[in-house]
Amino acid sequence: MTPQDAPVPRGPWSEVPTVEMPTGDTSIPISLLRDVADALLKLPGAKVCDWAAQQPIVGLSTEYCSTVYVAGDGDSLSWRVSEPVAGNHKTCRPFFAVKDDDYPPSQVWVVGYVHNHLCAAPPSSDDLSAWPTDVFDPFVAMAEVRLWPGNPAPARYKNTPIELASALVAERQDGTRIFLRWFPTGEVQQWSNAKSRWVTLGTCAPGNLTGHGMTVPRCRPGSLQLLSK
Ligand SMILES: [Zn+2]
Repeated sequence: MTPQDAPVPRGPWSEVPTVEMPTGDTSIPISLLRDVADALLKLPGAKVCDWAAQQPIVGLSTEYCSTVYVAGDGDSLSWRVSEPVAGNHKTCRPFFAVKDDDYPPSQVWVVGYVHNHLCAAPPSSDDLSAWPTDVFDPFVAMAEVRLWPGNPAPARYKNTPIELASALVAERQDGTRIFLRWFPTGEVQQWSNAKSRWVTLGTCAPGNLTGHGMTVPRCRPGSLQLLSK
């Protein structure tokens, strides 16, 4: 399928209320992710995991990707997600374009994507390398840039530029939820309910291909340890 033929998802997804700036944050707000989790994790297969093996179940487990974007102008900007696109048990392919119901393309900025992970798995190497611009190469040693590499017109709310980030939502076996987001700089953050803020877990880059065709991200200071609360 060529890019021209590819369908563009529409937004905002009616299951997820839009979130108005200011949110007290410069990137994907937790309030949006909580609503995304409520909606995404209801979809067929979105929570199916073989917990004994800690593996998704082929043919049943399903990841869903929604595009995360902001729409509006510098004085009134809202966070939105597109209708989700279903993938399979180990991946979904995000669209970095969206057709918004309320705003023309000139007032829409794609920030990243959000998806569900099965079995409460952390971000994959593919997750860390997918960004809504072909100008930026995350495999190259990264400058400390979280904005819009190569994009002359970053989204702004008043004087605050919006930072690119992608996110995942997941549920543990005990039903508690995990919210993670990561930036083009490689920082991976988890929402801490106990601290009521984002906590940086480490700085990661896509890993090398293994014999199984899967890659594990390389992280500093060590492999990612998810918070328990
Ligand atoms: Zn993923």
